[in-house]
Order: sequence, then C-alpha cells, then structure tokens
Amino acid sequence: MKNIGAVSVLLLLAACATPSQQQSGVERMYVISCGENHVKDVSRWTPGVNVGKPHVFSNYCYLIKHAQGWMLWDTGNADRLATMPNGMTVAGGTITVFMKKPLAESLKEIGVAPGDIRHFAMSHAHGDHSGNANLFTAATLYVQRAEYAAMFGSEAQKFGFIPANYDKLRGNTAMIIDGDYDVFGDGSVILKAAPGHTPGHQVLVVRLPRTGPVMLSGDMVHLLYSWNFRIAPSFNFDIARSMATIDEMKAFAQSTKTQLWINHDMEQNAKIPKAPAFVQ
Ligand SMILES: [Zn+2]
Repeated sequence: MKNIGAVSVLLLLAACATPSQQQSGVERMYVISCGENHVKDVSRWTPGVNVGKPHVFSNYCYLIKHAQGWMLWDTGNADRLATMPNGMTVAGGTITVFMKKPLAESLKEIGVAPGDIRHFAMSHAHGDHSGNANLFTAATLYVQRAEYAAMFGSEAQKFGFIPANYDKLRGNTAMIIDGDYDVFGDGSVILKAAPGHTPGHQVLVVRLPRTGPVMLSGDMVHLLYSWNFRIAPSFNFDIARSMATIDEMKAFAQSTKTQLWINHDMEQNAKIPKAPAFVQ
C-alpha cells in the first residue's frame, strides 16, 4: 500500500510539473569551489581597462546529478596546491594560484568518489580547469576534436597546456565531438563548441529543473564585464574567433532564455549557492 501511495504521489507531481520540469533529467547541480587565481594586472583580461589593477578570479567545478549518472564539468586548480597556504606563483610572477580545499575532499563531502563519475568534460585544458583531470579515468571524456588534438599533440605547451595534469585521460573512453553534443540524449545537458580561448574550447548548457537553462562559461569570457562589452583577452588562441563565439552564444542565450554563469567572475558567483548545498 505504501508503495502504491508513493507512486500516486509521483504521478500527481508529474501531472503538475511544467513542461520544462518534465523534460529535464537533471536532478541537481553542485557548484564546488575549485580555487582562486589572484592576478597583479587585470587588464591582461580586459585590454585597456583597469590597467595595473589587481584582481581575484574565482574558480569552480560543477557536479551534475542526472537520472543516468553523475557528470563533472571542469576540475579546477590542482589539489596538490592545498598544501601551499600562500599559493603558487605562475606566469612570471603575475598570477598566484590557490586551492584551499581539494576537489577530492569536496566530492567526498557530497558522497561521490571520483570513480562514480561516468561523464566528464572540461571547458578546455588550461591548468585552472584541468588541475585534477587525472582523477577521472573511469569516466567517458567528452571533448572537442580540436582540443583533443592540441592536448595530446606534440605542441601542447604552445597552447598553454600542462600535459602532466591530464595525461592519464589518454586511456579514457572518449567521445570526440565537432560542435554540439547532447550528453544524455534528452536535451538536458548539451555541450556547445565555443572556440577562441583555446582551439576546442566548449561551454555546457544545463537545464536545471527549477532555475531553467544555465550556460557554464568555461573561459569563453572571464567576467560579466567581458560578456556585456564583448571583450577577449589578448592572449586568447584566436581573438576573432573568440568574438564570433561571444556573438553566437549571446544569440543562443537570448533566444532560449539561458542564463550565463561565469566561472571566474567572483562577484556573480557570490549569489550562487555552493556545495555541499546545490542548485536545482
Ligand atoms: Zn580559466
């Protein structure tokens, strides 16, 4: 009787759900703190603006609970940095990177082991997104063909990549894609090619059951300011392509009423609940 009652309640809830709630297989998403990047001069990211001003960029990883399994988007700064309370200085002294709490620990707090994650994608392979990639060898890796070629080619350093961060992914089952890809086949989690920052940069659109569609930016833009004013850092792989990507994603976001959540924008992220709490 108890079971029949539960089924009736579920059917009733399903009947009351809005169409978007019925469509999404995403149950919830955890926004996990994955370090901070302190820079001496933010104008490297905003050419001509705020010259000489220091800035703190946030850094997040995103864990999605879908009816078909767990998916992780980005892996943040390397967990080994957690032993360095003053961070590690990189890029000729211009950036100090921190990882206060290891990703492995944050996942454990949620009750998820790295091996439980079946679906794994990164926006791109730079160090602040691939820091812990080697933990996820049990997952299917979803990657754009151009990024895969750059990551595992002979000139990975030329793109600013650190192969030691992700070299264990070579053996993963890989879904090598060109353009958009519907991860679970139900429209709830879609990878979209967003090249420019790196050759095969991508963004992830997650259809949250209550919040609605959210685009996770990767480094398509680093700040809300760059999105609003269409600004690309001078060091991007392809600046013209970066601009075209911003234009395409703005048109997409507008026509689908999708919010943009910007990984490195600390101010915007202050308003978003963080793990172990979750968003729906
Ligand atoms: Zn980044």
